[in-house]
Amino acid sequence: MLPFLEENKDLLRYSSFHTPAMARFFFELKEKQDIEKLSDIQRFAEKNNLPIIYLGSGTNVVFAFDIFDGIIIKNTIKGIEWGTNTVKVAGGELVSPLSLQISKTRKNSLFGKWIGLPGTVWGAIVGNAGCFGFEAKDVVLEVTIFDIKTKEQRILKNEELNFSYRHSILKDTPNWFLIDATFRTNLLSNNTTDPRTFRSGKQPGGFTCGSFFRNPPEDSAGRLIDQVGLKWHRIGGVKISELHANFFVNDEKGSYRDILILRDIVKEKVREMFKIELYEEARIIENR
Ligand SMILES: Cc1cc2nc3c(=O)[nH]c(=O)nc-3n(C[C@H](O)[C@H](O)[C@H](O)COP(=O)(O)OP(=O)(O)OC[C@H]3O[C@@H](n4cnc5c(N)ncnc54)[C@H](O)[C@@H]3O)c2cc1C
Repeated sequence: MLPFLEENKDLLRYSSFHTPAMARFFFELKEKQDIEKLSDIQRFAEKNNLPIIYLGSGTNVVFAFDIFDGIIIKNTIKGIEWGTNTVKVAGGELVSPLSLQISKTRKNSLFGKWIGLPGTVWGAIVGNAGCFGFEAKDVVLEVTIFDIKTKEQRILKNEELNFSYRHSILKDTPNWFLIDATFRTNLLSNNTTDPRTFRSGKQPGGFTCGSFFRNPPEDSAGRLIDQVGLKWHRIGGVKISELHANFFVNDEKGSYRDILILRDIVKEKVREMFKIELYEEARIIENR
């Protein structure tokens, strides 16, 4: 057993859905030196046949287990280095305060669109987060990754990250830990609406993971769910938001089981009525 691993960790606060869950082992990276411990954790995991899951702020995940029989690693490493028209940011920094800071120094910055986007820099790059027509891929210059297996650091340029809709190469390379990302900060937006005003009018607050399903090509998952009449639909403590049908909200101490039942109902109804298959945008984390 590694002395720095926490055992039987309560995960309630570690996903934005706030469903009850525990992890057999848990580690939080708080400073750069902690990155070296990842190789020990990897070896420990291999020896004991335990899966590893990485987490930023947990705003795009469903913990679909009572006790995760593996290791959850959370990244909260902070650090910001300002350059001329660039900023180098540690993976554990939060996107929204960073975007606010950038927007204060540069009027009409493209980063203004990310104000109010929950989650870490790490999560945003892994999933190529985006809103209002602006995605991580538009501003990432390069990232530094630590290869947990070889213990080497590498710099990957934007083109090497294979960005696509809510996806980057980092989703398929669990041995690569994102240390930091360098963004360009001089791109401007011609839309000056404050995204927080838009979000507060069109998206629900509370315990949610944001859009639950990916939008099918040329369509919107929210529109389809609305059309099949599932707005307001509730299973246990979780309902489909009346404000935005692609948002599931845990407003009555629901569990992951409620979320998964609701997911299956939505998928079935949309398949039946539109012959369209919906796929989750949120990552459903299950025991193997
Ligand atoms: C109210 C609300 C509104 C939202 N609005 C938007 C929006 O407008 N646009 C949008 O794109 N998203 C939106 N989201 C979803 C979420 O904010 C983003 O996906 C965010 O970028 C996730 O960041 P995170 O740090 O919370 O990542 P987490 O949820 O902690 O992790 C995200 C995923 O990345 C994986 N991951 C993390 N690190 C690694 C790694 N090293 N290797 C492999 N996998 C890894 C995790 O396992 C998980 O699958 C919203 C969420 C909420 C709650």
